[in-house]
Amino acid sequence: MADLKIKDMNKVYPNGVQAVFDFSMEIEDGEFIVLVGPSGCGKSTTLRMIAGLEEISSGTLEIGGQDMTNEAAKDRDIAMVFQNYALYGHKTIYENMAFSLDLRGEDPDVIYEKVMDAARILDLTSQLNKKPKQLSGGQRQRVAVGRTIVRNPKVFLFDEPLSNLDAKLRGSMRRELKVLHNRLKATMIYVTHDQIEALTLADRIVVMADGRVQQIGKPIELYDKPANLFVASFIGLPPMNFIKTRMVDSKTLRSKSITWSLDEREQELLKSYIGKVVTLGVRPEDVREGGNMDLVVQINENLGPYSLVHGVIGKKHMVAKIPKWLELKEGDTLKVSFARDKVHYFDAETTCAIR
Ligand code: ADP
Repeated sequence: MADLKIKDMNKVYPNGVQAVFDFSMEIEDGEFIVLVGPSGCGKSTTLRMIAGLEEISSGTLEIGGQDMTNEAAKDRDIAMVFQNYALYGHKTIYENMAFSLDLRGEDPDVIYEKVMDAARILDLTSQLNKKPKQLSGGQRQRVAVGRTIVRNPKVFLFDEPLSNLDAKLRGSMRRELKVLHNRLKATMIYVTHDQIEALTLADRIVVMADGRVQQIGKPIELYDKPANLFVASFIGLPPMNFIKTRMVDSKTLRSKSITWSLDEREQELLKSYIGKVVTLGVRPEDVREGGNMDLVVQINENLGPYSLVHGVIGKKHMVAKIPKWLELKEGDTLKVSFARDKVHYFDAETTCAIR
């Protein structure tokens, strides 16, 4: 197990595409880090540079206090689990899990112990004599993880390991990975485009866009205090509602559809924005039932414990998540308000949160 120190890491591919810009972060021993962002944001490239599968164009990488910037992948003591976890079809599960140790020429008794240990942790003990095709997708994925556990690497890297599984299996494998991390207490870095995986798995999340880190923080920090419009819109489902307003005087934000009066704290916060454009953000669950705004219903989705009400306030499309079953039809009006201390403000020009 090990900590990582990554400093100003950049990747420029030979064709001139810069995929990662100045990636810097320190990862503690035993942390579960999730890199998340839309397709093409540079998260796999970042992971592959850590693994040694892509050259680091500039910057430095330390693993467990050792400079690994230019070390070959095999010398980094890192194990990677991919989306396509190709197992050897003609080998048994035991042989698949033992393979890398065999290659290393480890003692068969040691190999046996390590494979049995990993099989216990992953609940594969009764599958060891089978061939991969006799296992379910989830079990095969566990074997892929098992192959890495036996090597007892310093760091586990996961590149979208669950994206080939169906939704139900994805959920259960996600929970298994969490349990596995709790047991192994190993440093894990996990790449996904799925914000649910990020929120549920990570000790800390790194949100990336266009090759740049947007924010690093605990899931709750990213959810409650997104650093900019990108993070605010990417984390949270349904996404945050945004309203572009102008600050017409020291106490008032106004758009075509709403007028929002600021309390004293907010007036202080926004005092340099008078006359300027401010984007107001409010999560669907912070649009509360009751109040003086009219949400004219377009579609109401009852989902058991809550209803998602899609509609318009004035001309502005909004989604409200109301924690009960509502009988509403198109054209009905629901009186709503925004939970005051949950409203986010963003500089419309820089897209940064105003704090
Ligand atoms: P993500 O994992 O977030 O989907 P990637 O790290 O795979 O993103 O890719 C980041 C950017 O780098 C994309 O614009 C992609 O097209 C580009 N890219 C990835 N691999 C290569 C490569 N081998 N050569 C050139 N450009 C690449």
